[in-house]
Amino acid sequence: MLSKEILDILACPKCKNGVAYDRDKQKLVCSICKIKFNVLKGDIPDMLLENAKKI
Ligand SMILES: [Zn+2]
Repeated sequence: MLSKEILDILACPKCKNGVAYDRDKQKLVCSICKIKFNVLKGDIPDMLLENAKKI
């Protein structure tokens, strides 16, 4: 699981705003860009825009 410290510093690479953590689906969601990022192995955020999916 991602720690609060990590979550606090994570930002969407597109708009630079914070992202929301969906614990159930293990995704990080940017509600501004309407995209979601994968969290690999439960604790490795994949913040690459090319891997982000639309929501
Ligand atoms: Zn964004």
